[in-house]
Amino acid sequence: MDSYWKHFPTHLQLEVTPPSSRFEAQVLARKLSQEQPSPPDVTLEQVHSAICREAIQPDSLTACDAVWTRRSDLTLAIRTADCLPVIFFSPEPQIALAHAGWRGLVSGVLENTLATFSSPSSVSVWIGPGIGPCCFEVGPEVSKEFPLQHHRHPKRARPFIDLAGAAQERLRNLGVKHVVQSDLCTRCSQHLLYSYRGSGGGKGRLETRARIRGA
Ligand SMILES: [Zn+2]
Repeated sequence: MDSYWKHFPTHLQLEVTPPSSRFEAQVLARKLSQEQPSPPDVTLEQVHSAICREAIQPDSLTACDAVWTRRSDLTLAIRTADCLPVIFFSPEPQIALAHAGWRGLVSGVLENTLATFSSPSSVSVWIGPGIGPCCFEVGPEVSKEFPLQHHRHPKRARPFIDLAGAAQERLRNLGVKHVVQSDLCTRCSQHLLYSYRGSGGGKGRLETRARIRGA
């Protein structure tokens, strides 16, 4: 567990942050357990919406699924369990976090989050672990919302959907040039992660945090 998560800050700093920038995003992702470290400054009461709010002080923001800030003294957090945690950051510096399940994705949570940045081309995005196309089997009410190129086994009555692939395509179409995507599936990696489906609808969650590290 520890060695796995250690990978992410290094990976993000090396691969995502422009090397000349004095800005870096610190990313912490961990399984919520009984023994929790200090709580983050900003949490969301997530409702599978496309709403993105600005964090201006320590707060619990109601009815939204994404949050952004330019303040370097606020740690933002979202909670997921098969949905995608998505981190945005730009050298302004600005960061944003989005909780993107299929509902949020098709209703535009990524678009609304990106719209809070001045220029999409300056934004780097990390798509964290969510349920993969190996496991995200859905009915027609969900599959009809996704273009065929994101379907696996499209001839089946219940195809599998590549949620992260669909997210990445949306971001690139909006002008985001740098997207890093985790290849981990929450359901296949329950030794490391937490899966809502894999746990039979349990109440556990993964928490993903982001904070601007001061220059
Ligand atoms: Zn899987």
